[in-house]
Amino acid sequence: MVNQRPTYYEEIERKGYSRRDFLKFCSMITAYMGASQLGIAQVAEAMETTPRIPIIWLHFQECTCCSESFIRSSHPIVADILMDQISLDYTETLMAASGHQAELAKEETMKKYKGEYILCVEGTVPTAENGVYCCIGGKTAHQVLEEAAEGAKAIIAWGTCASSGCVQAAKPNPTTATPIHKIIKNKPIVRVPGCPPIGEVMAGVVVHLVTFGTLPELDGSKRPKAFYSKRVHDSCHRRPYFDAGLFVETFDDENAKKGYCLYKVGCKGPVTYNSCGIIKWNNGVSNPIQSGHGCFSCSEDDYWDNGSLYSRTTGYAGFGIESDADEVGKIALGATAVGIGAHAVATNIRKRKLISDLIDEDETQKES
Ligand code: SF4
Ligand code: SF4
Repeated sequence: MVNQRPTYYEEIERKGYSRRDFLKFCSMITAYMGASQLGIAQVAEAMETTPRIPIIWLHFQECTCCSESFIRSSHPIVADILMDQISLDYTETLMAASGHQAELAKEETMKKYKGEYILCVEGTVPTAENGVYCCIGGKTAHQVLEEAAEGAKAIIAWGTCASSGCVQAAKPNPTTATPIHKIIKNKPIVRVPGCPPIGEVMAGVVVHLVTFGTLPELDGSKRPKAFYSKRVHDSCHRRPYFDAGLFVETFDDENAKKGYCLYKVGCKGPVTYNSCGIIKWNNGVSNPIQSGHGCFSCSEDDYWDNGSLYSRTTGYAGFGIESDADEVGKIALGATAVGIGAHAVATNIRKRKLISDLIDEDETQKES
């Protein structure tokens, strides 16, 4: 039974982490989840008392960037405990076993923990030609998914491939690459899009499952609201330039050097929901827009089929804000005060500050 398994905290202690490391991890994850300070105690208590949930992690048509993102997450406990322990059940990429041994481990987990395990899926499922484009252990990905989904308590579709198809499903989609929710209809599914999703977002979803025993609150597209309720545009540090009508016209112009808004060179931040501007990447160091490239909307459905990555977003269905950048420029020129920074959403700032304080504290400790 599940309750014979050690708790997460027991595993964390066994790995040599201190109580302080553990509490810091709980604080960071709670901040990512957008919960209040009170939530830290709740997360800590759940991790101390909850036996580790069995997890099966499948890989289909994909590049493994989601696993990479998860194990590169800024906090070592994410990789060391969540991922390392997950690998004890089944994940083709990271587990030590292979071939028949690996398949046996999966079957045993499915049998022993029927109705209790979480099924994580990376990649799309090809359904053309009876699914022959992706086979594992003599079965098609379609068969493997249906078998594993049957006894799962819930399913997490990692990344844009499993969530909506990504490049494999781009026109003409020769393998009929299909996202998970279009195949499995009778299980709770959470979609965690992104190419890849941010490691801390993935950890936050897993910790939520551990802490509350339920899926996090989802939006209408089955995405966790804590991480996908704001547009990249709303937390972008270049937003004051957008509002002022100051744009990069070409990647090598003077405006690019000044750090102006990337909208005219294709940034899709205004129509993309993700946490890149808040949590950022690589231990909170930067995000793609900060590094000089526009958002190409990797966490939205069908982004490969929505025109060039470098064309303006006005052609997007549902682009319901300012009609185009030139209009924005005209409005801005006519205004006496543009209100630089007025659109930086207060909650984003608070969340980002809490995360950055935790990272700073961590760095200071490493140096001392
Ligand atoms: S269009 Fe892109 S670069 Fe400009 S403010 Fe929005 S997200 Fe930032
Ligand atoms: S900035 Fe946009 S394209 Fe880049 S990772 Fe974030 S959501 Fe994806």
